[in-house]
Amino acid sequence: MRIAIASGKGGAGKTTLTASLHHVWPRSHAIADTDVEAPNLHLFLHPVIDRRLDVALSVPSAVNASCTVCGKCRDICRFGAIANFGKKIALFPDMCHGCGGCFAVCPEQALSEGKRALGTVELGHLADGTSYFSGTTRIGEVMTPPLLRRLLTELDDVDRDSKDILLDSPPGVSCPAVTVAKRVDAMLLVADPTPFGVADFRIAFEAFSSLHIPLAVVINRASMPGNDGGDASIAAFCQQHGLPLAGSVPFSHEAACVVANGGVLAAAGLQWEKLFASMAQYLLRMFKGPSHE
Ligand code: SF4
Ligand code: SF4
Repeated sequence: MRIAIASGKGGAGKTTLTASLHHVWPRSHAIADTDVEAPNLHLFLHPVIDRRLDVALSVPSAVNASCTVCGKCRDICRFGAIANFGKKIALFPDMCHGCGGCFAVCPEQALSEGKRALGTVELGHLADGTSYFSGTTRIGEVMTPPLLRRLLTELDDVDRDSKDILLDSPPGVSCPAVTVAKRVDAMLLVADPTPFGVADFRIAFEAFSSLHIPLAVVINRASMPGNDGGDASIAAFCQQHGLPLAGSVPFSHEAACVVANGGVLAAAGLQWEKLFASMAQYLLRMFKGPSHE
């Protein structure tokens, strides 16, 4: 079973939850950091990277002399990556989405194919032997879904019947987050009870509930002094929409210090371990994946 740990915004606590759930997860599992624009799970789990795969997009890189400037490639490109200036075709490969349309429609095979580097996919393992996957977008690259799809394809080799996969999702509800959400079996939404956090949590629910996968919610930094309304608002929303509340991580100076120092919260003391262990058990009951050790 693949479980995405997602949120409507960055900084809600996805990575804290993913690292801690890994620490207490009672079944065999793999871990994936799919927040490829800003991966940071490695800072907490310290994986050994065994292999790095370069990921690139096929883009038109040159127009050869057989071009008749018919304009078919320009017309089919929805992303403005091809234009013509007078009797010349101009290519803007940084804007290409790699759909291949221009190559397909060119009657003269006048376009040469080049590669635009998107980033890397990393395959490795943790000290306890857990398989670890992550992706890292090339600095300056704006398009992440093809890199994510490559990373998610690597996860296909993890046998779903014998292993769970915990995925630290990209934040928000934009293309990267939806790319991941479409390839998982269940989703844990981490809700931040600040006013912005509550608003973003509602948006995340609207976006992800349309995928018809089981959802559950954890409130992070719950019972924040002066912010009781946020907890109540999330709890009421969950009740109204039949969303199971898997637990709350209390607002705590200790928790902030542990995380700021790169620690795994579930490993910081028995009370934290128990909290996350009961959350993990609740999620497994709610999501009802295949039973395995
Ligand atoms: S489709 Fe081919 S021939 Fe037509 S303008 Fe584009 S590159 Fe030139
Ligand atoms: S591959 Fe697709 S997105 Fe890229 S330039 Fe050609 S038509 Fe445009």
